[in-house]
Amino acid sequence: MSYETVIGLETHAQLATESKMFCGCPTKFGAKPNTNICPVCTGQPGVLPVTNKKAIELAIKTAIALNCKIEPQSVFARKNYFYPDLPKGYQVSQYELPLATNGHLEIEVGGNIRKIGIIRVHLEEDAGKSIHQGAGRILGSASSLIDYNRTGTPLIEIVSEPDIRSPKEAAVFMQALANLLQYIGVCDAKMEEGSLRCDANLSVRERGSSEFGVRTELKNMNSFKAVEKALLFEEKRHTEVLADGGKISQETRFFDDTTNTTHGMRGKEEAHDYRYFPEPDLVPVAPDKKWVEAIRSALGELPEERKNRFIANHRLSSNDAFLLISQRATADFFEECVILLNKPKIIANWILGDLQAYLNARNLTIKQANFSPVQLVELIQLIDKGTISGKIAKTVLIKVLETGNSVKDVIAESGMTQMSDEGTLVKIVQSVLAANPKQVEQYKAGKTTIIAFLVGQVMKETKGRANPGLANKILKQELDT
Ligand SMILES: [Zn+2]
Repeated sequence: MSYETVIGLETHAQLATESKMFCGCPTKFGAKPNTNICPVCTGQPGVLPVTNKKAIELAIKTAIALNCKIEPQSVFARKNYFYPDLPKGYQVSQYELPLATNGHLEIEVGGNIRKIGIIRVHLEEDAGKSIHQGAGRILGSASSLIDYNRTGTPLIEIVSEPDIRSPKEAAVFMQALANLLQYIGVCDAKMEEGSLRCDANLSVRERGSSEFGVRTELKNMNSFKAVEKALLFEEKRHTEVLADGGKISQETRFFDDTTNTTHGMRGKEEAHDYRYFPEPDLVPVAPDKKWVEAIRSALGELPEERKNRFIANHRLSSNDAFLLISQRATADFFEECVILLNKPKIIANWILGDLQAYLNARNLTIKQANFSPVQLVELIQLIDKGTISGKIAKTVLIKVLETGNSVKDVIAESGMTQMSDEGTLVKIVQSVLAANPKQVEQYKAGKTTIIAFLVGQVMKETKGRANPGLANKILKQELDT
């Protein structure tokens, strides 16, 4: 039997505000435990919360970027549960009436563009941090400490439709969402540091079925890789249980990143278990239309629009355009290059090829590298002029990136200029021909394609410095006479 995997993601992103959601305490990370707290965020009796306008603005920004409808009115609600890191005994969230609904995010998987629906975007506050002594979780720990600095930090929750069909797609979605949030300056989106977190719902059903299977919810995935690994394990587990004729029970499961396995934590709670009710101490959020429009225009060009412009104006493939806009700095770099030199396709190839490979291998962003658009354009122009070959240019690029020296200096120091002197090349060609009599014979017998091999030998002899066009021409001259 063939199965299909259905995944939905709930992402929590910490909003880049200076202060907390309902009080003036700083949100700065890394302060001494329990120093950024006040009566409001520690839930003392009689206090009154006031909503942070900046948090609403950033949430609206996100909703617009995710193509959502901004609701005319949204209402804060109390989500009631007990945990030591939640001093009020409830979390302020949004339930029946969220800030925004019905959007989508495009992702690129294996060369295909997929549109993943967004059910809702809502505002909420974070809980504190429990530090379990001697264990990563409460189970097996002797005692726990609590830091309330994080309590009341503004979050947005982004709930996707169950449109995701594989663990790989889920990881790509998370990365695309993180890129978007960074792009619009809403969140620094670092999963490893906890400013971006996600829970995943996964179920498996018979292919072709329109009904969903029983789902499990996964928690504790602290990196993009962990999202994929946890879901891969869970997908396999579901499929095996179902193939054996067994049943999946609805539950919340914990991902153990040391073993790459998931373990049942508790039966999955239902929304009604939380006894949600409207928060009586806060007014509804009813953003003025003019304000929303001002936020929209201040956002400027969004990644999706930029992608479409790259395709229309620079005749890039949708895949290349998508990759360029996935990081704002990369897209900016590309555009600066194109202003200097109108060769968008060649520029895109360099950025997405050798440059990106270098950056990825060192976990660097384009901004952190010793490299400017002027340098890339200079490199491309030197190839065009015939000063260096395309192959040598790749070596020059790496040297420039490694040393931070100018393109010209790197070329001058290493003597890597292209060999275009005919007299020198003729001698090298003659020695290559003398060393490869078999290939010469084949050429003379009519197998003219063998010339590519001989050009390769000339390139090898000259350590890539020969002008390949000229080498080809001289080879033909020598062979045909
Ligand atoms: Zn506070």
